[in-house]
Amino acid sequence: MYRTHTCGELRIQNKLNKVILSGWVQRMRELGAMTFIDLRDRYGITQLVVDDKSTDEVRKITAELGREFVIQAEGEVKERSSKNPKIPTGDIEIAVEKITVLNKSEIPPFTIEDNSDGGDDLRMKYRYLDLRRNPLKQALILRHKMAQEVRRYLDSQNFLEIETPYLIKSTPEGARDFVVPSRVNAGEFYALPQSPQTFKQILMVAGYDRYFQIVRCFRDEDLRADRQPEFTQIDCEMSFVEQKDVLQMFEGLAKHLFKNVLNVELQEITQMTYADAMKYYGSDKPDIRFDMKLHEITELAKGKGFSLFDNSEYIGAICAKGCSAYTRKQIDELTEWVKRPQIGATGLIYIRLGEDGIKSSIDKFFTTEQLQEIANETSAQQGDLILVLCGAKKKTQGQLGSLRLEMGNRLGLRDAKLFVPLWVVDFPLFEWDNDTQRFYAMHHPFTSPKPEHIDKFYSSNNEDIENVNANAYDFVVNGVELGGGSIRIFDRNLQQRMFEILGFTPEAAESQFGFLMNAFKYGAPPHGGIAFGFDRFCAMFGGSDSIRDYIAFPKNNNGRDVMIDSPSPIDNSQLEELSIKLDLKKR
Ligand code: ASP
Repeated sequence: MYRTHTCGELRIQNKLNKVILSGWVQRMRELGAMTFIDLRDRYGITQLVVDDKSTDEVRKITAELGREFVIQAEGEVKERSSKNPKIPTGDIEIAVEKITVLNKSEIPPFTIEDNSDGGDDLRMKYRYLDLRRNPLKQALILRHKMAQEVRRYLDSQNFLEIETPYLIKSTPEGARDFVVPSRVNAGEFYALPQSPQTFKQILMVAGYDRYFQIVRCFRDEDLRADRQPEFTQIDCEMSFVEQKDVLQMFEGLAKHLFKNVLNVELQEITQMTYADAMKYYGSDKPDIRFDMKLHEITELAKGKGFSLFDNSEYIGAICAKGCSAYTRKQIDELTEWVKRPQIGATGLIYIRLGEDGIKSSIDKFFTTEQLQEIANETSAQQGDLILVLCGAKKKTQGQLGSLRLEMGNRLGLRDAKLFVPLWVVDFPLFEWDNDTQRFYAMHHPFTSPKPEHIDKFYSSNNEDIENVNANAYDFVVNGVELGGGSIRIFDRNLQQRMFEILGFTPEAAESQFGFLMNAFKYGAPPHGGIAFGFDRFCAMFGGSDSIRDYIAFPKNNNGRDVMIDSPSPIDNSQLEELSIKLDLKKR
């Protein structure tokens, strides 16, 4: 028997018990004739003591131990003379009577401590050592708990967990596919799913009216910080539902998770239209933990002879409460901040409502009354600072939205303990892309238009089409998009029209999505669903911005798994079998 107990289990009640523990040597300390060993396993740490009462054999083996050796120790549970209230086993220790080295360890390349001295790359390469550290262990335990609670809730609501294939068909819509060559069908390729979207819809046609899956998805996108080429979704679909039914069901899931995992009572989930989100927050995923809304001041600010304003489509402001005393240096710093390429503003204009009246960087062009009008528009009062950006509308709103978040950070308004969810609804169905001169589906091509916009959907006028809203919704918490979904098209003709707007010829639509269109011939029910980013949900619950810590074996920022060293070249013989000829020179 390797162990009678785990390293997190023994308490003072176990005093005098004879026990066997197995685990890793976390740390050793010598104090005169005594050696203390912290023995660690998944469950915790228990202190072992070897002293002059121990046998020579035990002392000899102890002298040869090192960090991360795997050992088995047998002995008696004793009350500690100096207790450690910081760990649950801190009242006891084990007086070692027998010790066995189960396996030696080389000295690890970084310390296995909560705050390790190892850099990112090193820890990724030795992920199995990193995973021994508490923070990562807690992250994976949290992830497990989340998955269990997701299943518990959805099961209680009659959802069936059904797997869908990983080797599917490549389609040009959406992100880039990862593809897998088929050996037995030379020259042909599978694609890994970006999501099980079409399969879950086909399950609805098949009558499985409540489906879910905690499922891996693959997207070959350009890498951005905190994007993983493979990630996990809680993917769900329901039949015979309208938008409000879906929102209600998944509001239930969100509340269940917050309650059962974090013990947080989530407040009512409000709804905001996409148009309002952009107008007031400059973002389709607003952080509504704090106010500081965007105010459009185009009318008030234009035509006063300040050419930067006069040439702008949009002028917008936010009011930073209590910031009128910002120094020149602080304002310069903010100006630099908005000019960084990630934000891309050309400059920042301020109006301060100080004790000595209104002062601004545009005093030359504006009278005090005119500045006061702007102040009124933004509800600014004495003591406040108004920050103004101008330019093309959408872009400037976005920049102002980022500045708002930054000011929220600086002013400590984004309380990490507070969770404020909302549904963003009424997204546009399409986005026009100037480069390719065509419409793209903002969500995906299976999203249904709002019933009241069906006429516009069939219009031949691009402007009408641009104004069609989607029956789609996003679930946003604290400025993070945790999920999104839509009511789907289930009518064959409507789906055909969708493909037509997206620029598919009937033949292309048939060859890529014929299976779905065919399925729609055989009694497709009305249906809709949603998918949540499971990794991100876990990271939010863990209080982290980074999803990587919540994935056991993540890829690095270059999309590489540095532990197994992948991707990697394959043998010529493998290539030959796959009928693939590489011509890397051309790249
Ligand atoms: N499949 C969609 C996505 O991955 C989610 C959905 O519409 O259910 O974004």
